Amino acid sequence: MEQKGGWTIIVNEYGMTIDVLLDLYMSLCDSTTSKKINLTDLGKAIEKQLKSTYEISYDKLCYTTGNIKNGLDYLPTKKYVRPVVKHVQVHIKLHQRIIYHINQKLGNEHLVDVRDANKLIGLYGKVNKIGGTEIYLKETFIPSIIKGLDKNTIPHEFGHSLGLYHVDEPWVWIKSMREQWNIQKMIKNKTNIMYGGGGVYLNDRTSTTITPEQMNIIIENYKLGRLNLG
Ligand SMILES: [Zn+2]
Repeated sequence: MEQKGGWTIIVNEYGMTIDVLLDLYMSLCDSTTSKKINLTDLGKAIEKQLKSTYEISYDKLCYTTGNIKNGLDYLPTKKYVRPVVKHVQVHIKLHQRIIYHINQKLGNEHLVDVRDANKLIGLYGKVNKIGGTEIYLKETFIPSIIKGLDKNTIPHEFGHSLGLYHVDEPWVWIKSMREQWNIQKMIKNKTNIMYGGGGVYLNDRTSTTITPEQMNIIIENYKLGRLNLG
């Protein structure tokens, strides 16, 4: 049987409701020299913060099509397209496992690896690539993540692993038109998680939200095979 990647996104439609499940298999590792990280507490913080950022609900404009019977034999039936507003509810489910060395990571898991400060100079965290399966976190920032003082690093780095780009970075439009935000859009969404390091709105405590458009992009990324990349 084919092994599925870390993220599986299941979209179920029931009438006017759309249920979205973001399901992730992941392992947690402490690769620091001192090995003092409480990975159980970090895992709990990750689950809490991801639920708080990603479990959103919103209305989505959809289109239904159908046929109108004319009733007269010699006239063709007409097709119609009707806009309907459906209600989207997102849920997140994490399957976490603690490992003692990164080579214990299974092929179908994402990895969250805590690293020494000198391995991630100038960064809070990093992903191996956009849509990638590996997230590296800097040891220095783990206590504030566990205490809930830093509520941005986790949802931000998982955002990259869900294929999201920074919304305030020049040239992002080349890769993703909808993620290049203008100033009006930034003012409307000051608390977004995807501001880059040094962005004016980036704040460890308050940059915690995503937009419905970003959630739609995540779902598209999954359908287009842009997640679970090496
Ligand atoms: Zn980033």
